[in-house]
Amino acid sequence: MPLAAGAALAATPAQAHYLGTVMRRGPGATVLVFNGRDGEWEARLIALSRDAARLEVARQLRPQTEEPDLWLVFAPLKRDATDLVVQKATELGAAALLPVLTRRSNTARVNAGRLHAIAVEAAEQCERLTVPRIAPPQPFPAVLAAWPPSRTLFAAVERAAAPPLLPCRAPCALLTGPEGGFAPEELDELGRHALVKQVSLGPRILRAETAAIVGLALLQAPGGG
Ligand code: SAM
Repeated sequence: MPLAAGAALAATPAQAHYLGTVMRRGPGATVLVFNGRDGEWEARLIALSRDAARLEVARQLRPQTEEPDLWLVFAPLKRDATDLVVQKATELGAAALLPVLTRRSNTARVNAGRLHAIAVEAAEQCERLTVPRIAPPQPFPAVLAAWPPSRTLFAAVERAAAPPLLPCRAPCALLTGPEGGFAPEELDELGRHALVKQVSLGPRILRAETAAIVGLALLQAPGGG
């Protein structure tokens, strides 16, 4: 929905529940809204029921700003660890999150609705004006076969003589593996792919969720995105 002064907005049932039951807001309250395109706006809550709300947009508080063109390709982990990866990747500015199913993946199940809700909450908490796109899970070979030619894929590999991960301002992505690491065949595929650069995150073996968080931060150092 476009945001402009005087525009009327209809909240989803989940948003109405959040406003009324979680945030305890009522008609007349001021709410901040964004849609990923038009910046941040102040809006007034006009009407609220259990599963519906209407708002009127008042004034712009912040314009939309450019964000890093950074993706995270990650092997889904156990539920809490995946939730953490999605929350932290959102805070760290990732534009897209691509779950990849590897030979040693901890799970093939990804609850897209749940992960989207976590990303929305994290975007609101860190005052980001976009929500990362969450792609459906894809098998590892399919991700590599369809990799876009304009984007470098930095594959985090442990126990290898790979160079350290350095900041990158161009479109790029970080790939992290599952708790069991990448299988030898997958490491071979990564080694053969023209757009993949294998990188190290240091001498210690990090948990997969730590590797995703550290890698996203390093790619954006020193400004942190
Ligand atoms: N089971 C593997 C082992 O013992 O060698 C460790 C896998 S690690 C827990 C999970 C993922 O985190 C890896 O696939 C890799 O992508 C990333 N990772 C962890 N530590 C790393 C490091 N020091 N450098 C690069 N990547 C790392």
